[in-house]
Amino acid sequence: MKDLRKILGETYATFRHPAIAPLVQIDKNEWILELFHGPTLAFKDFALQMLGRVLDYILERRNERVVIMGATSGDTGSAAIEGCRHCKFVDIFILHPHQRVSDVQRRQMTTVLEDNVWNIAIEGNFDDCQNIVKASFRDQSFLPDGRKLVAVNSINWARIMAQIVYYFYSALAIGGPQKPITYSVPTGNFGDIFAGYLAVKMGLPVEQLIIATNKNDVLHRIMSSGIYDRTNLHHTLSPSMDISISSNFERLMFDMYQRDGSKIAALMAQFEDQPITISSEAMESARSLFSSAAVDDATTCEVIANTFARTGYLLDPHSATGVGASVQCRTSAEQTIVTLATAHPAKFPDAIAEADVGVSPSVPPHMEHIFTSEERFTVLDNNKSTVNQFMVEQLAAQRT
Ligand SMILES: *Cc1c(COP(=O)(O)O)cnc(C)c1O
Repeated sequence: MKDLRKILGETYATFRHPAIAPLVQIDKNEWILELFHGPTLAFKDFALQMLGRVLDYILERRNERVVIMGATSGDTGSAAIEGCRHCKFVDIFILHPHQRVSDVQRRQMTTVLEDNVWNIAIEGNFDDCQNIVKASFRDQSFLPDGRKLVAVNSINWARIMAQIVYYFYSALAIGGPQKPITYSVPTGNFGDIFAGYLAVKMGLPVEQLIIATNKNDVLHRIMSSGIYDRTNLHHTLSPSMDISISSNFERLMFDMYQRDGSKIAALMAQFEDQPITISSEAMESARSLFSSAAVDDATTCEVIANTFARTGYLLDPHSATGVGASVQCRTSAEQTIVTLATAHPAKFPDAIAEADVGVSPSVPPHMEHIFTSEERFTVLDNNKSTVNQFMVEQLAAQRT
């Protein structure tokens, strides 16, 4: 317990706001929970700053080393690298699609020059990166000294756990538990909002959880129709929510089906090659807590511009989908809605420019250095063996 407190103290000391997760009131019953004051300016720091420290603590006691391997289309990679750069027992390899992540996102990763951090730019797209990572997890025999791979994607349980906390914190800060709060959560892999669901399971009174998606609206379609199907991926102004399958949704489905594991296994097996229809009973149970809305790029820009004109508050495009969905799903003027602001607007200057607000977000001082610092990354072919070979060589070179 004492050790955990120490780890948590160090984790959140890296956040640049004294409140760590400040609440900003933008209208009578409208709040923004700012989750972007960590080192990489996105909410993923809440979990990944903790995860790196917890891993290192446990590995030191076990006298083990592990290798983190992950694919990123943007925010996950930088948050994972920031979370692990000071680890003594963790080596981390992050794959990103070469020339397909934003300048800021790439620089946040590639300007980290610690010896246990490797950035690999794959000649391919995000799915290619993801496929190499998945295949490497299936066959880890290439790793030296019996080391193991560790995943840090959004189904990582420790990440979800760390995210439960700010639901309790924010609800208590503005009138909970007497007054049930509604949360609007910009969602990709259903990780952050699943943490909200777990807070409800732990007893936090919540009126509604609003699933906010961008044009990649798989979750909104499930909520509206009960049909879970795959469609093509769209590139949007909120790239960290660009997914076609929401990995954590399976966890909610498990509860929707009364925790019947074999039923879920059968449905997911079916989902491998065809859409699935969720029973109306199961959908009803989900709809008693969740509502949803999809917010396309044009609306996202409108929300950024309107919110700024109305309140003087500048939203990033991800958070704007949350505010947009909160407007669509609001059931009464009295309802208290907290939108989770998942990224700092300075991370997405192009979207802000497109919204034509008339101001540009200023980059927080602790991030300015990335625009001038040396970058280090290795471009590799879209090939698992090439990547594994590179990892082995680098790990061997590090030991000598
Ligand atoms: C990762 C991310 C999301 C989506 O989070 P999930 O937990 O996958 O739902 C939303 N906004 C930003 C800025 C992110 O980085």
